[in-house]
Amino acid sequence: SSRRWGGGPGDARHHAGGELDWARIRTRFPPEPNGYLHIGHAKSISVNFGLARDYQGACHLRLDDTNPDREDLEYVESIKDAVQWLGYDWEAGGARHLYQASDYFDFMYRAAEYLIEAGLAYVDEQSAEQLRTHRGDFTRPGLDSPFRNRSAAENLHRFREMRDGKLPEGAAILRARIDMASPNINLRDPALYRIKYAHHHNTGNKWCIYPMYTFAHPIEDALENITHSIATLEFEDQRPFYDWLLSHLARGGLINSPPPRQYEFARLNLTYVVTSKRKLKQLVDEGHVDGWDDPRMPTIVGLRRRGCTPGALQLFAERIGVSKADSWIDYSVLEGALRDDLEPTATRAMAVLDPVRLVISNWDDVMGAGHLESCSAWLHPRAPERGERKFFFGRDLWVERADYSDSPSPGFFRLAPGNIVRLKSGYVVRCTGAVRTGAGELAEIHAEVLPETKSGTPGAAVKVKGTITWVSAADGVQAEVRLYERLFTVPQPGGGHDSLDELHPASARRVRAYVEPSLGQAAPEQHFQFERLGYFVADRVDHAPGHGKLVFNRITSLKETFTG
Ligand code: ATP
Ligand code: MG
Ligand code: MG
Repeated sequence: SSRRWGGGPGDARHHAGGELDWARIRTRFPPEPNGYLHIGHAKSISVNFGLARDYQGACHLRLDDTNPDREDLEYVESIKDAVQWLGYDWEAGGARHLYQASDYFDFMYRAAEYLIEAGLAYVDEQSAEQLRTHRGDFTRPGLDSPFRNRSAAENLHRFREMRDGKLPEGAAILRARIDMASPNINLRDPALYRIKYAHHHNTGNKWCIYPMYTFAHPIEDALENITHSIATLEFEDQRPFYDWLLSHLARGGLINSPPPRQYEFARLNLTYVVTSKRKLKQLVDEGHVDGWDDPRMPTIVGLRRRGCTPGALQLFAERIGVSKADSWIDYSVLEGALRDDLEPTATRAMAVLDPVRLVISNWDDVMGAGHLESCSAWLHPRAPERGERKFFFGRDLWVERADYSDSPSPGFFRLAPGNIVRLKSGYVVRCTGAVRTGAGELAEIHAEVLPETKSGTPGAAVKVKGTITWVSAADGVQAEVRLYERLFTVPQPGGGHDSLDELHPASARRVRAYVEPSLGQAAPEQHFQFERLGYFVADRVDHAPGHGKLVFNRITSLKETFTG
């Protein structure tokens, strides 16, 4: 019944203490379930749910499923997951604010009949071609349709025939009767309903006419008593129609007064990625990426798999703020938020991504043949209460290939013949040279340990110019490390051309690495700072320590290194 909606699910005035409640903010996040959410949606979620949280209001999660073509239950589940993972929920004050727009189809239909009866809507049977040419453009007004002055009774009859499946697709639409000469093209008798013989996942085959987004959306907001309907800037020109529609429905007593109001803010554009569900879907469908949750994707599931945290996205949203001007946010802003969020919490560990063997040639002589020396380091340097990690130092170690040079440049203080270097949390060694293969490839580096220099002992005070990371061959564990570059090679993909040409050809790389033994216990989705290398996460899908498979994704480097 209309009471149901008149005093609808979100009607705060029907609660006890109604006046106070009515003053409260009520927002909504209304995704269409036709794809996975992306970082632009994360911003919208943070704005809408954040406002509700800050002002003790409520934010509705509304699945805007008025278009039967493209929607899928898989997407519905992914949307709910994304909102929850970001730290928000749709329960407020004991109420569950989860809605689907298709539940309002009956009401929308009645609203359409009301407009027809009030002379504010008509059934137009012009061809698609005629509709297009008669709409005019920015330079000239539109032309009235020959069907514009039909009687209300005739329109009602014809509209019911549309509903009853008497007309084929494309034969007629219902239009608002506003002003074909309006400078705002959105007010030139916009379409309200079209015929579509499509099965809907919620309403089945009940309907063969479906409301247009511009008609449905204001009604959804009104029925849920939304106070602030926050939209992106493209919808600014739709606001006059939003207000036109709701003021007429309020006057007719179909919805509450005052009706909701729409506010616009700039959409988020992030450099080096695309933020459009359609384009992201194309990347998935054509196999340019490994699914919606590919760690290079700016989808929320992709960001999550990459190791992005809800805290970092929150920080990111706060830093970019809400503005009225469209702009591109540089990807490095997201990386900065990630570093700042992860630095205080991420567990430290050592890993060697491009390993080459370092042999301590005097080890057996000075320490004893086969001796392994136990070393330790804090899990986090500023949180000793979190405890320490333990690992061995021995004759055979792994170090990064790039940490050795035969002929070092002046600033190079790492391994080079004659250099003295600290192996972090281990010993100081003096490099004596290296062995190369016939092809000239570095096969093995040689060094001698300075036995009194173990970290944490008085002798550790010896001055060295360089410190490098390492893993011992005795207890280092093999791991796969996945390194990611930006998905696109240009900051603003698709600027006037096909963005697929601008895909980074090698944005994902897998390397065999050695990691310290503590990482053998890493849980999926656990975050780490690999010392000197950056932030990494244990892959939430493929990392399976129980099966001896360690997989880490690089989230971001320690410092900004990208130069564009
Ligand atoms: P897409 O073009 O990617 O499909 P959309 O706007 O069509 O995005 P919806 O599912 O309709 O996707 O969006 C739900 C909400 O998210 C809308 O209120 C919209 O304003 C908001 N939103 C979508 N993309 C962005 C963005 N890039 N920045 C800010 N808000 C966005
Ligand atoms: Mg949309
Ligand atoms: Mg869209």
